[in-house]
Amino acid sequence: MSAFNLDAALAKRRDDNLYRERKLLGSAQGPEVIVDGRKTLAFCSNDYLGLANHPEVIASFRKATDQYGVGGGASHLVIGHSEAHHKLEEELAEFTGRPRVILFSTGYMANIGVISALLGKRDAVFQDRLNHASLIDAGQLSGARFQRYLHNDPASLELKLQRSETERKLVVTDGVFSMDGDIAPVRELSTVARKHDAWLMVDDAHGFGSVGIGGRGVADLHDMSTEDLPVLVGTLGKAFGTAGAFVAGSEALIETLVQFARTYIYTTSMPPAVAEATRTSLRLLRDEEWRREHLKDLIDQFRSGCEQLGLELMESNTPIQPILVGTAENALAMSAALAEEGILVTAIRPPTVPNGMSRLRVTFSASHTTEHVNRLLSALEKVSKNINGIQAREKMKWQQ
Ligand SMILES: *Cc1c(COP(=O)(O)O)cnc(C)c1O
Repeated sequence: MSAFNLDAALAKRRDDNLYRERKLLGSAQGPEVIVDGRKTLAFCSNDYLGLANHPEVIASFRKATDQYGVGGGASHLVIGHSEAHHKLEEELAEFTGRPRVILFSTGYMANIGVISALLGKRDAVFQDRLNHASLIDAGQLSGARFQRYLHNDPASLELKLQRSETERKLVVTDGVFSMDGDIAPVRELSTVARKHDAWLMVDDAHGFGSVGIGGRGVADLHDMSTEDLPVLVGTLGKAFGTAGAFVAGSEALIETLVQFARTYIYTTSMPPAVAEATRTSLRLLRDEEWRREHLKDLIDQFRSGCEQLGLELMESNTPIQPILVGTAENALAMSAALAEEGILVTAIRPPTVPNGMSRLRVTFSASHTTEHVNRLLSALEKVSKNINGIQAREKMKWQQ
């Protein structure tokens, strides 16, 4: 038998209810999308402000292709760093209140680039146990000593920091947790980090646009200066509705990344038109406060509707509103039942979340209406007896 027995691993993934299937999207992002040829009402994209298909963002993109064409053409350090990229960096620096910003082609690459540029074998990285996969991978690739602390628990972090004797220590957390929707206690984490001479890095992929004044994210919510929070990461594929990522920080940090972040140096720059489109989406994200207000109304409507149905939600006041159902099998069954009602909510299963913590990850966008949320709630009502039963049974396990 071949060493590459791929079929066996695939069959096991299927048996474990962990098999992934790609749905075929036939339309732009929006509340109502064409999926596998059928119109459906979707609650699973990260386009929290409805900017991915905004006419002004599209117009900026089109216009920029007249000037710059399509491809980035080269890496930033060769001849791929356009005026469009540079202006976006400057505008993001002003937006985040940081001295300087650097763009990356994706959030995954930003995280790998930063952590590997800052840490090596003799250093240590401390991560929340529910951090996004890209942060976990980045920590491991850096070769630094890797430690995980309990979720959102500064005391647990402090115990690990106290025992560490390495010179450089980096504490890393999601800002808004991608699969849970709760917010990291960044102020407390920063206090603990500073006490032990460690740096704090926050990946606020889901916080920018959705929380803080002008959508300035978790750093703004907790009024964190560059000293409190030296490494701030944001992504552009979520609330910004475009693609790419950025790191904001001191002049020295950003220059270090230009010189040493391998995922910055050895890759083609993002298409300049994406940078131009993002300049427009940044303006809309920052200035159109009504999008966040409307989003908040939808979240309140959903949470009180679920309460009436006896459905338990997680502690979240962000657009990420997961319904915990325990096993992967439960999550798939509930997602399929909602699909029967014309509603798309994806089942999130291990290894994306811990074993026994599978969930329906419901997300909202400013482009949803109260009528859309009513339709979701009616569909949930139809399947809620099942979910109620599941939650009652699974609860015993969660509390352990
Ligand atoms: C989505 C996400 C990323 C990855 O960003 P991409 O630009 O999609 O590669 C990184 N961190 C977190 C917390 C995310 O949710």
